Amino acid sequence: MSGGPHVAAGALGVDDRASAPRCLGAVSGAAGGPTVVITGGLHGNEPAGMHAAREVLAELLPRRSVLRGKVVAFGGNLGALERGVRFVSRDLNRGWHTPDLERLRAAPEHALSTEDQEQRDLHRAFLALERERSRLVFLDLHTTSGPTAPFVCFSDTVANRALACALSVNVVLGLEKSVDASMLSWASARGHLGVSFEAGQHDDPGAVRRHVGAVWLFLVAVGALDAVHVPDEPAHLAALAPGAGKRALVVEVRHRHVVGLDDEFDMLPGFKGFDAIEAGQIVARDRRGPVRAPEAGLLLMPRYQGQGEDGFFVVREVACAPRGVVV
Ligand SMILES: [Zn+2]
Repeated sequence: MSGGPHVAAGALGVDDRASAPRCLGAVSGAAGGPTVVITGGLHGNEPAGMHAAREVLAELLPRRSVLRGKVVAFGGNLGALERGVRFVSRDLNRGWHTPDLERLRAAPEHALSTEDQEQRDLHRAFLALERERSRLVFLDLHTTSGPTAPFVCFSDTVANRALACALSVNVVLGLEKSVDASMLSWASARGHLGVSFEAGQHDDPGAVRRHVGAVWLFLVAVGALDAVHVPDEPAHLAALAPGAGKRALVVEVRHRHVVGLDDEFDMLPGFKGFDAIEAGQIVARDRRGPVRAPEAGLLLMPRYQGQGEDGFFVVREVACAPRGVVV
């Protein structure tokens, strides 16, 4: 992007909104580096990623002389963010099939739902970046309704595995296969790299700190910045490090509990992400009665919010995948 290091909202040809602009800002450095695309708030009850993206951009601006490439950040579901809900009519992190996106591009404005418009805005912005012909690398920032150790998930390619391992948090394999057409699955299908980072519970003050740390470490991992130029790198490493006596895990998804609209799904209280569970253990209730874990493993993303079709996941450690080794 030409015209200076800082690019105001709207410069990508997307709509401005007074309360929350789509483009949160951008910082450009030397030519030849990647374009790092940060998205925050794709779910409207997860504003921590947007706060973190703004903070990093502000600190990156005076360091633009040592930046290779560009960093640009977008707000996700602006309508849902204003309301403080996960989504208004549908999950914005689903439905990123190319045919659906082409339908949205061609549809008249009045025929679009709130999320249709949000998705069309984002899609247009990404296509505009593609036309700049730099290598695109996505970092999609999320939080969860229940407490959890931070983790990273991604479309499973060798290059994405290497990026994911650079963040030194738990790695979850196979999550993208169990949900329908996430934004990153679109990016991967277009040949771009990218990972999703889950920083912890929505209202955990530490979530913003972990997002900030993840963004800085990610910039180093993709070659946009040398570690020596990261402000207070030890603090970011510490924010993402497993607790005392713990180690980062590599796990794979074994089961996804899908919640139907009329299920009256109610997770039992007290679960955290990566809690050990037994086969047959009651973990939730719905209108049919107790909901049991189908097998032993670790619980991931127990749903403690009223929206979303993912009730919980069961994951299991992959013993043959040592960290740092791309398998
Ligand atoms: Zn999310």
